[in-house]
Amino acid sequence: MLICDEYLTPVSLDEAFAAMHQHRGRSRIVAGCTDTLPWAREGRAGDVEIPVLIDVSKIPELNDIKVDERRVRMGAATPIQRFLDNAALARAMPEMPRCAVWFADDQIRAQATIGGNIVNASPAADVTPCLVAHEANVELAAMRDGRIVRRSVALRDFILGPGKTVLADDELVVAVECDALPGYGGSFEKVGHRRSLVISIVCLATLVKLDAQGRNFDEVRLAIAGIRPVPRRLHEIEDFLRGGPLSSARLEEAADMQLDLVQSRTRQEYRRDVVRGFLVRGLINAAKRAGADPDALTPEMEAAYG
Ligand SMILES: Cc1cc2nc3c(=O)[nH]c(=O)nc-3n(C[C@H](O)[C@H](O)[C@H](O)COP(=O)(O)OP(=O)(O)OC[C@H]3O[C@@H](n4cnc5c(N)ncnc54)[C@H](O)[C@@H]3O)c2cc1C
Repeated sequence: MLICDEYLTPVSLDEAFAAMHQHRGRSRIVAGCTDTLPWAREGRAGDVEIPVLIDVSKIPELNDIKVDERRVRMGAATPIQRFLDNAALARAMPEMPRCAVWFADDQIRAQATIGGNIVNASPAADVTPCLVAHEANVELAAMRDGRIVRRSVALRDFILGPGKTVLADDELVVAVECDALPGYGGSFEKVGHRRSLVISIVCLATLVKLDAQGRNFDEVRLAIAGIRPVPRRLHEIEDFLRGGPLSSARLEEAADMQLDLVQSRTRQEYRRDVVRGFLVRGLINAAKRAGADPDALTPEMEAAYG
């Protein structure tokens, strides 16, 4: 159980940093608490006493969302539910509604934040690979010498390993900025131990842009997670597909590329099979949503992977 004496809800960055300074060494930042509460239960951290919890989810800057044709900026406290109810976000990040719909359940989705997902740095986190595919940068802020100083770190450099990031003790994640990809088709493939409320064993974010005829790949972005300590962009497969035809043979060839992606110690064979199937299925689903020519893929392939 998690025991705390004070639960603070600052409404500005200044207030948050003042609280962090005042309670240094006896406080913890939380947003939706959906990782923190389960962590403090029997069998994991057990009974944990943290004198002060500082909930940053009420700070307006951390809830701001700005979307234009090229860039997306989301406050760190953006809840996962936003990807289902904000049309501009869903257009700019077309794989995210699929990711959100398989993320936990209604209650958790309303609480869980993107900032919490990336700081928790779980290899099974679902939002992180999507953000990696969008070339995300993480904006961090700290109060130093009486003023707020900010720095921006590429998400791929922010996460160092399971549960490890470059976040300093006095820093907050303020926002995430990434490429907007309107006009792309998106898919999010995920498998876990059961059908719902599931933590990913493998998940794959796929973004595809096709030519005007829907027969060739203009752009492809792929990022995978759950099978190694940190998410990985699949640049080799992206390069292979970019500029080439959308065809069943091409997708099979892409899925067969020997990348030795699985680093998890358990269920290695199973994970390899799933990765292969997800690559084909993710590309088919994303290509269809990007306006693929219906004759580009064989019916057999669609039936096998669709
Ligand atoms: C039932 C259940 C189902 C779940 N299903 C999924 C799932 O399908 N996919 C998935 O990816 N995850 C899932 N999770 C995990 C969790 O919901 C997510 O990782 C979520 O995004 C965490 O966000 P949060 O705001 O709740 O984090 P919190 O628990 O509030 O914080 C997590 C960590 O991030 C830090 N932190 C939070 N915000 C900031 C900030 N702005 N600056 C600095 N540090 C910060 C905290 O100090 C803490 O270390 C599930 C959890 C539960 C309980």
